[in-house]
Formats: sequence, structure tokens, C-alpha cells
Amino acid sequence: MSDESQELGITESKSHKPGEWYAEVVQKAGLADYAPMGGFIVTKPRGYALWEAIQDALDGWFKETGVDNVYFPMFIPESFLEREKDIVEGFDPEVAWVTQGGHDELEERLAVRPTSESIIAPFMADWTRSHRDLPMRLNQWCSVVRWEATETKPFFRTKEFMWQEGHTAHATDEGAWEEVWTRLSQYEKVYEDVLAIPVLRGKKPEHDKFPGADTTTTVEALMPDGKSVQGATSHNLGQSFAEAFDITFADENEDEQTAYTTSWGLSWRALGALIMTHSDDQGLVLPPTVAPTQVVIVPIWQEDTKDDVLEYSEAIASDLEEAGFRVELDDRDERNPGFKFNEHELNGVPLRLEIGPYEVEDEEVTLVHRPDNEEAVEDRDEIVDAVDEHLAEIYDKLYEAAEENLEENVREAHSPEKILGTIGQHGGYVKTPWCGDEACEEAIKEKIAAEIVMQPLTDEGGTTAGEVPEPESDECGVCGDPADEIAYFAKSY
Ligand SMILES: [Zn+2]
Repeated sequence: MSDESQELGITESKSHKPGEWYAEVVQKAGLADYAPMGGFIVTKPRGYALWEAIQDALDGWFKETGVDNVYFPMFIPESFLEREKDIVEGFDPEVAWVTQGGHDELEERLAVRPTSESIIAPFMADWTRSHRDLPMRLNQWCSVVRWEATETKPFFRTKEFMWQEGHTAHATDEGAWEEVWTRLSQYEKVYEDVLAIPVLRGKKPEHDKFPGADTTTTVEALMPDGKSVQGATSHNLGQSFAEAFDITFADENEDEQTAYTTSWGLSWRALGALIMTHSDDQGLVLPPTVAPTQVVIVPIWQEDTKDDVLEYSEAIASDLEEAGFRVELDDRDERNPGFKFNEHELNGVPLRLEIGPYEVEDEEVTLVHRPDNEEAVEDRDEIVDAVDEHLAEIYDKLYEAAEENLEENVREAHSPEKILGTIGQHGGYVKTPWCGDEACEEAIKEKIAAEIVMQPLTDEGGTTAGEVPEPESDECGVCGDPADEIAYFAKSY
């Protein structure tokens, strides 16, 4: 290996040093850089393209289901933030404040939004007069700031992060529940059908729900290192925000009623989960659904075959482009094919087409799958259909590997020693009966930093909260007291 290709390639191992490996993939695959201020990152074009792919999918589904996009200020007056006490208490330690504008001290300090309920709700109150104004469904794509003093991990842990936040108001509790489940299903779909990551749906335990919420629902994804990622959350806020901000309306009898509200969000942590789930020691691995380049064509020529090989390659590139694929023909003169292979592997291009004089002569194309180097030879005449099929196969491979990881890593345990031992040895989720007391979570958390990441639900998707299913054993896996709930413990990002 030349020095140059060593510098280009990944040097850390995913299985031995997942943290270092992840940081290296993010930088070397050109997704993000570290900003001069701790806790902030710069998203580069290839990283931003991935975020846009998620945006495109979700935004389309939101609009098909009655959501309008809006934009609210990034600053929230302190007095607004204070109107819902749980929000203040929940976010207070993480809020960044603006106290000065130009040379003047501000009369009221302004919070840089940690989330926007407190600035959106008062306007929803203004805009809601009658039951005919409901449901009201607003969403904004923006960034928020939460001043956590932890180590920077691109897309997983940054003080500022990109997300979407949806905010809705409804005439009935049932309407709010339908909304919560609709959004949770769309989050599940973006993970499973766009990012090739299976997720578990459930709710957060009472003590870990969103400040002010009645219920927080979540989709959780299991990473190959055994830690869970909270993929997105959808909250039923009940009437607490509507009461704090006077979101009321006249019902059909002209009686004043208080609305029910929800909020829901997915952040660029989804990108972190995407990178972490599929990538390997050669670099980034992407499902074709989101890859900025889906197919790279690498022509392999000698001086005497160059013209023929290039002409053949260009014709294939143009056929594929016309069919709607995102294609790159890498005809750089100054790089040899081996260098190009490594570079496109590092960047996660899902499918490589290799074209040399033999392919030209036999009217064929050699195809190589990024995730496992599987090779195939296809007829030139049927290349468009073949590429379509191979990309679908690559998606399935990635999904199936992630699904296997999830299925193999949900285990049961019925004592604190077993819970600790199982998570310590295998990572993943440990399912256990739970009495509902936060102290039992604490007992596990202080030993191995694993917590209750979710509780499964029955009856979900309807117009109610859904019930946590009855555990098979009726003793809490931690304290042995009577248990009527099930909890999933895991370490998490
Ligand atoms: Zn207990």
C-alpha cells in the first residue's frame, strides 16, 4: 500500500475501537469536520446530501398527511419559556442565552431555542378560534441548541443539531393520539425503508418522557456495538401546553374547549445511526436509497484500449443516467483503478461497475457490491434492469444484516446480576419485568450506564396510549417487587 492510499483509508477497527473508527469514517468519507468551537461540527456536501435524502422522504410524507411547513425565530424570550414550567426545568441546564445585542444589554434575555413549543404554542393559540381551525399541523426544519458539556461526536452529540420539529393541535384526545402514531410510523418507515435500519417502537418510561408530555413514544435502533440509538420521538403533550398557552377553541355548540397538542422530532442523529450501522473497516457503506452516488463506473484501460473502453463506459453511464440513477463515470487519468476502487469504497458508493477491454469485447459489464464485494457479470444490453436489481439486493443485504443484529440481541433476564451480566457481555437489549420505580433503573445505571430505553406497547396505532404488555413473570427483574410492566434496558448513545 502506498503512503497515499494509507492516508486515504480507514486505520481504526470498527469492532475494537468503534468510537475512533466512527470519527475517522465521518472525516475521511467527507461527511463532516470539527468546528473551532467544541461541540459544533461543519457538515460537508456529502454529509448534507445524506440529510437532504432523509428530509426529502419525510417532508413528502408529512405534506401528504396534512402538515404545513413554517419557520419561527431561533430566539425565545425568557418569559415565553417560563410559561410551561416543565420545559423550563427540563431544559434549563442546557439553554444558551443571548444577553446582549450589539453594544446594548437586552431588557429580557433570549434563549436560543432548545425546542420550539414555547414560541410556537402562543401563535397556535392566536390562530385557533374555532373547531374548524383544527387539527392544526405545523413543522419546521431548523437547528436547535442544547449546551451539553460532553465530548463531540458528529451527528450523535453536538451542541447544535439539525432536526425537524412538528407541532400540532387537535380538538380531541383521540385526534392527538392518532397524530402521535402517524408520526411514529413515518419515523419507523424512514428508518426501515430509507436507511435500511430496523427499529423497535415503544414508549419512554414516565421519568424519562419529554418535559411536559403525557407520553413520549420512540423508535430505537440497535447499533453493532450493542448500544441503542433513540431514533426519533413523538410526544402526546395532552393539555399541558394548551393550558399554559391558552390554545382554546369554540366547539360546535360555541362552548370554549382546551385543545390537545403533540410534538415530534427527528434529528441528524439518524445520520449517525446510518453511518454506524452499515459502515465497515474500508469506510462508509450506504444504502442506495440515500447514496449521493449510487453507481460508479471505473474504466480500466491500456493506451491501446483507452478509446474503446471510454466510449463503451460513457454510453453505459448515459443509459443509467437517463434511467434516473445517480451515476459517476470516474475517468480521471491521473489515478489508477486500484486507487479509484479504494476511494469509492471509502465513500460508500453502493455499486461499482468495472469496464475493461474484455467487457467491451464480450458486451458485458462486471458489477461489484460495496458491502461484501460480491461480483456479478451482466449483459450490456440489460444493464439498466440489472443495476436496478443489484441496488435492491444491496439494500436487502444491509437491512438483513441489521435485522439479524437486532434479533440476536434482545435477551431476557430476571435478576440484577443477570441484567448486568448480559448487557456487560453482549450489549444489546435486556427485556425484564419492571415494577415502575425509577430507583430500579438507577441501580442498573450506576453500575454499567445502561438505562430503560423503551417499553413495548400493545394496541398501538389507535386512538389511545396503548398498554405496556403484561410481563410473563410478575416480579421486577431488579428489586423483586410485584411488576406489571416490561422494560428494555440498554446502553445508549
Ligand atoms: Zn423494581
